[in-house]
Amino acid sequence: MTERDSGSGLFKEAGRYIPGGVNSPVRSFGAVGGSPVFMKRGSGSALYSESGRKYIDYCCSWGALILGHAHPKVVRALERAIRQGTSFGTATSRETELAKLIVAAVPSIEMVRLTSSGTEAVMGAVRLARAYTGRDKIIKFEGCYHGHADYLLAKAGSGVATFGIPGTPGVPADFTKHTLVTPYNDLARVRKLAARHGKQLAAIIVEPVAANCGVIPPAPGFLEGLRKIADRTRCVLIFDEVITGFRLSYGGAQKVFRVKPDMTTLGKIIGGGMPIGAFGGRRAIMELLAPRGPVYQAGTLSGNPAAVAAGVTALKILRDTRPYGSLRARARWLSKEIVLSAESCGIPLKVNTVASLFSIFFTDSCIVDYTSAQTQDARRFAKFFNGLLAKGVYLSPSGFEANFISTAHTERDLERTARAMRSAVKALGGR
Ligand code: PMP
Repeated sequence: MTERDSGSGLFKEAGRYIPGGVNSPVRSFGAVGGSPVFMKRGSGSALYSESGRKYIDYCCSWGALILGHAHPKVVRALERAIRQGTSFGTATSRETELAKLIVAAVPSIEMVRLTSSGTEAVMGAVRLARAYTGRDKIIKFEGCYHGHADYLLAKAGSGVATFGIPGTPGVPADFTKHTLVTPYNDLARVRKLAARHGKQLAAIIVEPVAANCGVIPPAPGFLEGLRKIADRTRCVLIFDEVITGFRLSYGGAQKVFRVKPDMTTLGKIIGGGMPIGAFGGRRAIMELLAPRGPVYQAGTLSGNPAAVAAGVTALKILRDTRPYGSLRARARWLSKEIVLSAESCGIPLKVNTVASLFSIFFTDSCIVDYTSAQTQDARRFAKFFNGLLAKGVYLSPSGFEANFISTAHTERDLERTARAMRSAVKALGGR
């Protein structure tokens, strides 16, 4: 039985019990064809399928695993934590330890609350922004993804972009009527919206580096411009750093771009691969949160002791080793290799790289926003993805997603990947 065969049998069985056979849509390989490879274990830079095949992994649990799979120190911390109990539903000092690490690292965060997912973190941040300003409207950007809350699914990225879902059935129009959507990297349009709706504007929410319609860096001055508009309209600027937090630098994107939002949402890396999210910001805003203030937000498993133990360990490793320079260098090297192979075959291709994030677009156009991201040749990406998969390289299974380098990726991994990419590009047939 070949790898894909074994995947298809498992996928069929899964589909009988789980809608689409997956618990999150992009995992289904809907954008790249075929059935998904079912993974059994991860170690370092690699995933191993049910049939034992090894894949160098550049999805890294959608960015959560900056230290690679099953990092020994994270695993030890988890084992220790779990032996002491998996959930208490009480206050624990470990949560304060994680909160302290986050407050010390992220420039704009004075207080933070933990959740179990990025979606919940964003919901909390937006609710607080609305309560703080006494206003309803929010501005979000086309192609940015902020989780699956009803009012944030308008023109969203990630699976919504991957599957071209125009709007999600089940979301009443009333729930999105306060969401104003505008193109990423276009300050003039934001200014216009702010001029029209400024007095009703509660928040501007943005991924400081868009990473859910492929990776798109902010244009020079874009984030600074948003800061100014938020100041002028007295609304809350929210940076959704669920991907970029502790990924671009130990203080996230806001530290790299030196723009301070009022609130920040986090997830992924801060849980060391366990389910987590967090939202934080200025004390004056955060203190509105119950039980200190009137704004309700809660979670049975929020601040889960195992997730927090893994997160504390991951953050301490990042704090003490600061791997960001070498992660960036590795991403740049790989990006250059792929561009060179495409050039030698006459295949139009662009790679956007920001720190250890990269996305490959089969197009002539520069990708600066959602509209330009749509110019990519999705069929070519699918063929390229499957070519790599056959050679034991696992990219994120959609051209509308980011890929991630972890500290576990070795030079040998990267060289093997570059070779696989060369032959996958060649197989696309250029000139
Ligand atoms: N915000 C951003 C920027 C994200 O990339 C994601 C998930 N990829 C979310 C929010 C939602 O996080 P979760 O999937 O943990 O709910």
